[in-house]
Amino acid sequence: MNETGNFIRGLRWHIGDLDGTADRIANLLNDNKINHIITTNMEILSMAFKNKELRELCTNADMHIPDGIGAVRLLKKLGFSKTQRIPGIELCLEALKKMPEGTKIYLFGAREGVAIKALEKLSARFLQLTFAGWHEGFGYEGNKLVEEINNSGAQVLLVALGVPKQELWIAKNKCNLNNIRVAIGVGGSFDVWAGDVNRAPRFFQKTNLEWAWRILSQPARLPKFLKTLAGFLPIYLRAK
Ligand code: UDP
Repeated sequence: MNETGNFIRGLRWHIGDLDGTADRIANLLNDNKINHIITTNMEILSMAFKNKELRELCTNADMHIPDGIGAVRLLKKLGFSKTQRIPGIELCLEALKKMPEGTKIYLFGAREGVAIKALEKLSARFLQLTFAGWHEGFGYEGNKLVEEINNSGAQVLLVALGVPKQELWIAKNKCNLNNIRVAIGVGGSFDVWAGDVNRAPRFFQKTNLEWAWRILSQPARLPKFLKTLAGFLPIYLRAK
């Protein structure tokens, strides 16, 4: 064991399959407090090692789900042999499916017009849920938005601002989000649900190469990916 390994081991990992993980998230609606869930990948882990605020945020989060092959490999190396990769976008849909009649959902994030389109698609798909409100991810005013989310009565908050903005926003505001029981950062999921961006074809998903497809389809992502990889590799090698 070493400091790097200890930090990773100390996070509240949920190791399980998609179905069981989604069940656990849906059950959090019965909690009497907000739960900050992070779909943890190598990007957030490598940032956490460089940034104290993110490190504390990761430690304080209520649940980490291994999303991304880098996080899975790292956990396996540290002895979490049963670790499975749970893509955040799939987990969200599966958890929404399991939530009971009348559960209220709020969507925050993405470019103008995207959240409302995603909301329309999701409400047509999950007829038992109530989509209580939405706000785009640019030009928002923090306190006003928190008030709006509280007034909506939502219990589930999906935040699509990308890593680490979404995690920082949730951590900063969670003590004021009175009714929210589940808050989760969903990255670019609204773009996919809205139909503006295609998810990787199944071959890439099944072979854990979704990241490669994202780079091929959006080459502008390459520098960010290389930076993340350069930050993550030493963590992976160091961790024991
Ligand atoms: N976004 C946003 N506000 C910001 C920055 C980003 O709403 O200030 C949105 C962006 O439009 C996109 C999502 O956040 O819908 C980030 O998607 P991306 O795929 O880049 O996130 P990742 O999954 O890589 O973290």
